[in-house]
Formats: sequence, structure tokens, C-alpha cells
Amino acid sequence: MSEHNTPEPQSEVEKKARQLLHDRGVTEDHLAELVHYLQSQYHENLELETCKINVDRVLAKREVQNAILTGVQLDILAEQNKLEEPLLQILKKDEGLYGVDEVIALSIVNIYGSIGFTNYGFIDKQKPGILRMLNDKSTGQCHTFLDDIVGAIAAAASSRLAHRANNSE
Ligand code: MG
Repeated sequence: MSEHNTPEPQSEVEKKARQLLHDRGVTEDHLAELVHYLQSQYHENLELETCKINVDRVLAKREVQNAILTGVQLDILAEQNKLEEPLLQILKKDEGLYGVDEVIALSIVNIYGSIGFTNYGFIDKQKPGILRMLNDKSTGQCHTFLDDIVGAIAAAASSRLAHRANNSE
């Protein structure tokens, strides 16, 4: 499963998407840790670096960048009270019946096929690592979209890793 992390040139959209994640407290290392959490029991000696390479490949996808740009923008506007009602309160309260945040996240999970759904459902229930912090409602921040997007990126990167491992065995 050797894959080198040759840094590929990032588009302006990819740079912006990564910047938004960083600004909201999510790093590539956080994402790699989630992938490791999901996959380490299936791959002996799984290195964090391998997880990170898969995260980088997922972040290079335009549909992932679009989901980040859209979701994080709505989170930020909600925090700044710049959305109209009733959407504003729905996002601020992260209402369970809303569901559009999950639909956007599924556009990411979809990219690498159906294992992604299992990973996404699992990590969304367990909320390890950075996901726990994003779900802390006491911070005054709004991460209604971001928490699902982060879980979806980890799930997609896990699926990619699993597919590649399978193909090389
Ligand atoms: Mg959410």
C-alpha cells in the first residue's frame, strides 16, 4: 500500500477550502487521526502518514471543496446572525430534523462507494477526536455543517484507503 505524498499543486479553490478548515480549527492531522481511528483495526501497523495521504487526495476533489465552501460559509453566517429566520435558528440550534448538513456531507461520502456510508454512520455516532470538540455547544460557535463534513472527509479517506489496500493484496 505504498503511496508517496508528492505534493501536487493546489488550485485556488482547494487552498481556500483548506484555509476555511484551518480557520475553523480543523487540520489535516485531525482528519488523519479520524481515518486512523476508523481503519487501524483493519490494517496492521497503519501509519498516520498513510492516513494523511488519503486525506490529501480527498481534499483535492472539487466536490469535496465545494461542500466545504458551502457548509462552512453557512456556519459562519449563522454565527454572525446574518441569515434569515427560520434558517438562522435552525442552524444555530443544529435541529435534528434539518438534515441538509448530512445531505451535503453525503456528497463527499459518495465519492468512494458504499463502504463510506458505514464509516460515516459509525464515526458520526462515536464522535472521536476533533468531532467531539466540534459538537461542544458551549463554545458559541456554529459547526452544524462542519461536523458532518469532517466526518464525511474521514469516511471517504477511509474508503479510499481500504479500496487501495484491497487492490494491492
Ligand atoms: Mg451537523
